[in-house]
Amino acid sequence: MAYTIAFANQKGGVGKTTSAVNISACLGALGKRVLLVDLDPQGNATSAVGVNKRDVRRSVYDVVIGQSGAAEATVRTKWDGLSLIPSTISLAGAEIDLIELDRRERALKKALDKVSGEYDVIAVDCPPSLGLLTVNALTAANGVVIPMQCEYFALEGLTQLMVSIKKVKQLYNPSLVITGILVTMYNGRLNLSVQVMDELKKYYADKLFSTVITRNVRLTEAPSYGAPAYHYDRNSKGSQAYLEVSKELLGRV
Ligand code: ADP
Ligand code: MG
Repeated sequence: MAYTIAFANQKGGVGKTTSAVNISACLGALGKRVLLVDLDPQGNATSAVGVNKRDVRRSVYDVVIGQSGAAEATVRTKWDGLSLIPSTISLAGAEIDLIELDRRERALKKALDKVSGEYDVIAVDCPPSLGLLTVNALTAANGVVIPMQCEYFALEGLTQLMVSIKKVKQLYNPSLVITGILVTMYNGRLNLSVQVMDELKKYYADKLFSTVITRNVRLTEAPSYGAPAYHYDRNSKGSQAYLEVSKELLGRV
């Protein structure tokens, strides 16, 4: 059975999609069978692996509301070992549509359980909220990776997220663990970043990945070419950092 990882943080722009996409691609390149699930209506992960949203016939929306099986909605990307359940803007309506469903927080888990045997890792890219879609991801997951930026209020956001994760754990998924906290877009020349990093080390030492993702322009360019950074520019600092985190992650799951 696959190890399912939710990339979650209620804040937008902290590197969830960049991390989900690049870690998925690196794990694929390392020989793992990976399914990336784009659970954000913006569909950035879908585009970032080179899948055109206009060509999507069945999306994660159909899967979540039970109109399609996970297998039927899965597309093979052109990258080693990497498959995708794409997202389109229709997913924006899912939070409302799910309300009518029984066991609505388990919809994603129910669908992914059927294909879990075909993958080593399932990575779920969450939207920037703690709504029902993220709850679905956390209910389906074995572990959570929390990408975060070292900026003001980051720790408050993290505390809030930890509370929500704990609630989901109590209500729906007792075996859920925090796989790791991943610092993204780090800039060691900013005093504030250094301070936040120190706080993180103080309170979450055992959860922090020892690899830190610094700012790297290749990571922002790659999505516009529909390629994960590892395939766009393998030797860039960003690709290498994500390769390191991916190896670290394999040691934790
Ligand atoms: P989220 O999914 O949490 O909203 P994204 O992964 O989309 O965040 O990242 C937000 C923006 O920051 C994107 O434009 C992305 O390309 C950029 N970005 C992410 N990580 C890095 C990095 N390490 N260096 C430079 N830019 C980055
Ligand atoms: Mg995103």
